[in-house]
This record gives sequence, structure tokens and C-alpha cells, in this order.
Amino acid sequence: MMSAKTAIAHPSWIEIDLAQFKKNIATVRKHIGEKLFCLPIKANAYGHGLCPIAKAAEEAGVDYLAVAHLQEGIALREAGIALPILVLGAIHEDQIEDLLRYQLEISISSIYKAKLVARVCRKLGKSCKVHLEVDTGMQRTGVRPATAAPLFLFLKEAGCFEIKGVYSHLANAEKSADSFTLHQIETFRTLVQTPPFAGEKFIAHLANSAGTISYPSSHFDMVRPSFTVFGYSAAKIEGLAPCFSVKTKISYFKVVEASKGISYGHTHVTTKKTRIVTLPIGYGDGYSRCLSNRAHVLIRGKRFPIVGAICMDQCMVDIGEEEGFVGEEAVLIGRQKDAEISLEEIAALCDTIPYEILCMFNDRLPRHYSS
Ligand SMILES: *Cc1c(COP(=O)(O)O)cnc(C)c1O
Repeated sequence: MMSAKTAIAHPSWIEIDLAQFKKNIATVRKHIGEKLFCLPIKANAYGHGLCPIAKAAEEAGVDYLAVAHLQEGIALREAGIALPILVLGAIHEDQIEDLLRYQLEISISSIYKAKLVARVCRKLGKSCKVHLEVDTGMQRTGVRPATAAPLFLFLKEAGCFEIKGVYSHLANAEKSADSFTLHQIETFRTLVQTPPFAGEKFIAHLANSAGTISYPSSHFDMVRPSFTVFGYSAAKIEGLAPCFSVKTKISYFKVVEASKGISYGHTHVTTKKTRIVTLPIGYGDGYSRCLSNRAHVLIRGKRFPIVGAICMDQCMVDIGEEEGFVGEEAVLIGRQKDAEISLEEIAALCDTIPYEILCMFNDRLPRHYSS
């Protein structure tokens, strides 16, 4: 599958292995058994490309999609995605008409918002599918457990809502056997098993990736793993592998004498005569400047260091005595021959989590999809 952008020859790109992505879906599916499978694909599907990932997920039999914002939901509907789509983020009043028009399912976490939605439903003569969001310990969005019951009753009695789900979100599930996570799971279980929730028909959902993998008691009726479905997991899981690589082509080669400063600020000075290649990718593409003088790249299956400050559109690599011709492929994240630069390695160098690195690569880089 090729997007329009891939037709334009750009010297750097992101490669997405859709066959591996679908294998990851099948692997997670096996793990969750009969439960419903919701795939959150906010933030351009964690950098993998919103609509192509949604289409692949639909083909691979995912039951539900979730996004953070209205605009992401609209993009999916305009691309012809028919799956149910839950908008996780808190909504704004001026978005409600579009949320209804595009048949997006809304998170409701206050009576105030519910009343706003009800008013628009009445005006348009439409009903609305909603998920009641409960805060069991994230202190983000979501109604407190104690006020969830009156909100549920309000939604039931308003006459314009179909309550599709009741959900919450785990704050700490990356830690195994974490007492706070177990407390969240219990709080949620008690809530959905107590009137007025008990006996009602809705989808109860709580688990993110960490919950899905490490806390079977958090699965309820549906799980919402995303990071794991893109192939990343602290635990080694057979069948799961990343499907995201960042690649470029060498754009320049030069021999540099000893004691020469490289790039802005001369933060790297050569200790001997060496070969420096330039790569046409920089922080303007999402290859963070904090990787300057820290990260490595792969050329001909070998690791070489980034030297000097990463520029907006380019960066330099010291290949020592080795050869590297203009036009040859360099891998910034991913595999080449037997070598690998992992997303986790890059995230550690930036002192952040892998999620953020995925989200940093922007639309300047075309996504190439292989299936
Ligand atoms: C992003 C998100 C998820 C998925 O989180 P992962 O850690 O990537 O599995 C699940 N639920 C909500 C509410 C989210 O915002």
C-alpha cells in the first residue's frame, strides 16, 4: 500500500511492516481470548500513520478503535473506516455536532457535558453512543466513582443516549504486582458490579497494554492495548515485534582532517583524520537534537556514531576507516543485517519513554507500508 506522499522521492522515510503489525494483532488476540479488542490509535497511530494502521487493524479483525480527539475520528471516517470509534479525550461544546455527524462515540465524564450533548441530540433529532469514564486513580479525566451512579442514571433517563461502555484508565500498570493497580482494578470491578451498573448491558473496559499483558483481572469485557500491538513489550512475547523503522540515504561524503570541529558549536572535534558522511534527516523531522554525539546509526550492518550537533535537516556520522557511498541506506531506528538500533535505546538516550520518540517523527517523513 502506498500513500500519495511516497510517490515523491524523499531521502528519509519511515518504514512500516504491516504484515508484522497484523501478526502482533493476532498475537494479542490469542492472549485476550474472547474479550473485545479496542486499538487506541491516537497521535497518528503512535507515529505509524493513522489511516493505513486503522485499515490494517480493521482487516486484522480488531473490534474497536479509539482516538484522543475529534479530528482523528473525522479523518478515520473520511478514509472509510466503519469500525466503532471511541473518542477518549474530553470534548468541547463546539465539537458535539461533528461528533454526532461522524458517528463517533463520546467519553462522558460529567453531567455538565452530558447535558450539552443531550441538547444537541434533541436539536438534531439524533441519539448518541457514549462511554461513561470513571477516574479510579489517574486524576485526569473521568467522574469520581462516588458520582458515577448519578451520571449513569442521568444518561439512562435522558432518552437520547446509548450507553455503550463504562471505562477507566490504569496509572501504574507498568509495574508488576503493583498494589495501586490492583486497587484500581478492584475499584472498577466493585463499581460495575454494583447497582445501578450491575445487570445493565455495556462494555466494561480498563486495560491498557501493561494491564492486558500483566493483569488478566483487568481485562473485563474489552481491552485497549496499543503500544504492545505496535510490537513493544517489557516481557518477551513470542510473535510480537516492532514494525516501525526510520531510514535515510547518505547524502554526502567527505574526508575530514584531525582537530576539526563538526557542525554547529563544534561540540565534536575529530581526534584523527576520518570519514564523515552526512544524512538528510534532523530534528525538523523528529530526530531529536538531544541525540547529538550520543546516538548511533547503522550503515552496511555496522554501528557508527552521530558526531556533532544534529541540525534541523541533516546530521553527520563518523564512519572512521569504513566506506559509505552517497545513496546507501542508513538506519536510525530498526534493523540492518544482524545489527539493530532499538526504539528503547533511542528513548534512553533522550531520557524519555519510547512512546514519545514514536510521536516525535512528523509528517515530513513519508511512511512506506509493506504488506
Ligand atoms: C493511550 C491509551 C491507551 C493505550 O495505552 P498503551 O500503553 O499504549 O497500551 C489505553 N487507554 C487510554 C485511555 C489511552 O489514552
